[in-house]
Amino acid sequence: MIERGMFDELSQLGNDMEDQSAFSRPADGYSAGLKQAIGFREFGPYLEAIGAGSSDASDEALETLRRRGVEDMKLSTRRYAKRQIAWIRNKLLPECNSTLAKSIKARPYVLDATDLDKWDALVRVRGVEIAKQFINDEQNLPDPMNISETAAKLLAEAKEKPNSVLAWKRFLCPVCSKAPEETMDGVARQVWLNGEDEYNQHLRSQKHRKNRTLRKRLAERDSSSPGAAFLNKRLNAKDEDSD
Ligand SMILES: [Zn+2]
Repeated sequence: MIERGMFDELSQLGNDMEDQSAFSRPADGYSAGLKQAIGFREFGPYLEAIGAGSSDASDEALETLRRRGVEDMKLSTRRYAKRQIAWIRNKLLPECNSTLAKSIKARPYVLDATDLDKWDALVRVRGVEIAKQFINDEQNLPDPMNISETAAKLLAEAKEKPNSVLAWKRFLCPVCSKAPEETMDGVARQVWLNGEDEYNQHLRSQKHRKNRTLRKRLAERDSSSPGAAFLNKRLNAKDEDSD
């Protein structure tokens, strides 16, 4: 992506957004609109340093910023891929298996892109074949389980939990959600998880554990504050299932 001109694209987008600042510039930096696209946040410091004219930053400092951006972007991309796979596994596939989906015959195909050298044959050609078959002769589509081992594994897993998304219980994380008095803008933030699987996954996540540690530390440091009892109550409520 970098070799193919990602920096030019990011700077161009950044400039365009400055020009239309009235309606597109997010108040809090990177959390809204186009700026949450992977790359902006990660290379923000680097692009700013370049934009400000490299006179006040040494080549070495620029290179450090660039390298940090590359590492952060790899990390964000891996996290994004993980979230996508979790979404497919926990929401899309179970929904396809549910009775609701059966009435419209949703048939998910999994194409194996693990080996990039075989991408053309296993993903592009295979994908086009299946799409053509769907258009021309839907009755004789191949069995999704026979496409690849990866497909068989993922689809078999999904069949074991054929619960519909619609029937899922929603969970509010008491640790990651924030009361109005805990946010800069005084607006509450609620972190909702869909279904037990997603909630359990969330409880094991780095983000949740980090928030939990932060809350514990805050409560310990400031045990006399009026908010501490409230925080402790929330922490204790979740203590049993997090470790
Ligand atoms: Zn949480």
